[in-house]
Amino acid sequence: MTYDPIPIAAIATAPGRGGIGVVRISGKNLAAVMTALFGSTQLKPRHATYLPFTQADGTVIDQGIALYFKAPHSYTGEDVIELQGHGGPVVMQMLLSRCLEAGKESGLRLAEPGEFTQRAFLNDKLDLAQAEAVSDLIEASTEAAAKSASQSLSGAFSKVICALVEKVVHLRMLVEATLDFPEEEIDFLEKSNARGQLSQIQTALQKVFEQAAQGALLRQGLNVVLAGQPNVGKSSLLNSLAGDDVAIVTPIAGTTRDKVTETIHIEGIPLNIIDTAGIRHEHDDTEPGGIVNAIDTVERIGIERTWAEVEKADVILHLLDASRGPTRADEAIVARFPDGVPVIRVWNKIDLSGHHASVDSMEDATHIYLSASEHVGIDLLRKELLRIAGWQQTGESLYLARERHLIALKQANEHLQNAAEYAAQNDQSLDLFAEELRLTQDRLNSITGEFTSDDLLGVIFSRFCIGK
Ligand code: GDP
Ligand code: ZN
Repeated sequence: MTYDPIPIAAIATAPGRGGIGVVRISGKNLAAVMTALFGSTQLKPRHATYLPFTQADGTVIDQGIALYFKAPHSYTGEDVIELQGHGGPVVMQMLLSRCLEAGKESGLRLAEPGEFTQRAFLNDKLDLAQAEAVSDLIEASTEAAAKSASQSLSGAFSKVICALVEKVVHLRMLVEATLDFPEEEIDFLEKSNARGQLSQIQTALQKVFEQAAQGALLRQGLNVVLAGQPNVGKSSLLNSLAGDDVAIVTPIAGTTRDKVTETIHIEGIPLNIIDTAGIRHEHDDTEPGGIVNAIDTVERIGIERTWAEVEKADVILHLLDASRGPTRADEAIVARFPDGVPVIRVWNKIDLSGHHASVDSMEDATHIYLSASEHVGIDLLRKELLRIAGWQQTGESLYLARERHLIALKQANEHLQNAAEYAAQNDQSLDLFAEELRLTQDRLNSITGEFTSDDLLGVIFSRFCIGK
């Protein structure tokens, strides 16, 4: 794959103030940019050079360190220069502008989001799954998520995918050979234990899928809707559930306006909690002096948006006051629950009602009796949430997989199943068997971003000797 190798530059560190800020430049050949920036001073690859960063007229912007990585020994696989200056937003902006000016002749432009990593992928520094893990590691909201993102970034996930692909390729070689040399009508499949190989691949794929699905859980978490009348103890329950994590209760980016979604963590799994009632009071003070109608509209949109979120829920927590029992308002709340979403009916304030902390699986829902403020029975709810999430503590390393990877793995699995069906039939289905294997490989390759050409046959036979 080729791309337009115009050099790019960007501030690589987070916006805001920091001890150090970094401007990163990447391009096929940065010799001209370097001369424009530093004159006769030569940067030595892999060495840190302390020097002034100056404007074209010689005025000093900052003093700092320049690092130079010569292609292909860099993050992007191109020439890379990193300028480390003092991490102030104005200084960084001045330094970036100066770089863009100095690199004008070379066509240097501002980098698009993710463009450095994209170039790393295009230059085979990272495969697609690793490139995705870069952003997952940056975005990781828990230690467990960071750990498995780093696992994927190191290539562990890609490695197991590649191992699967190799097994599929091996099996394809056998089948294609049988197909193309019908005169050798011996049952190749029988002889080579093709069916045994196939079921081995299926088992291996299943295992990868489970590890990836668990990792995806760490990344995406569980969408939990918290419903219930005012004063039943929703906020108290949230605090109690969050427990030690209370310090990292954060609004989800982009929803800060409605402040209805909060993320807490249970055993490292993010629970995105949507409080269906919360919005009503939250919005009262968002528009000081605003027109009443406008507030109403904002509020109504907020409420509707929240209910739209409810449609995407993985589980609904319906909170009730155990000391008072259900009311008509609860019926109205239940009526809005979407079909097919599991409901946990949480009876709170058992310290007042005299119930014991317990779990009761009933037809309509799982009922849990607890006290949020007394912190009694909370572990029962945590366990039930983890069960619904499908979380298993296997102690195995997880890959911080994305939905895309899970879908690809699922599709690969389906093709393997089809292949198994054809393999169980007579030889006439061999070409279909082969085709399903090809599709399996194709799906697996899509995870690492490696698309094999249709010329695979040629490759196969260049390595395969039928005479053996
Ligand atoms: P929300 O409006 O549903 O968010 O309810 P809050 O969490 O604000 O709680 C309403 C009131 O109920 C507060 O005074 C809490 O202290 C109280 N409360 C919450 N949970 C319990 C509980 O388990 N037992 C008792 N006795 N009071 C509770
Ligand atoms: Zn509340």
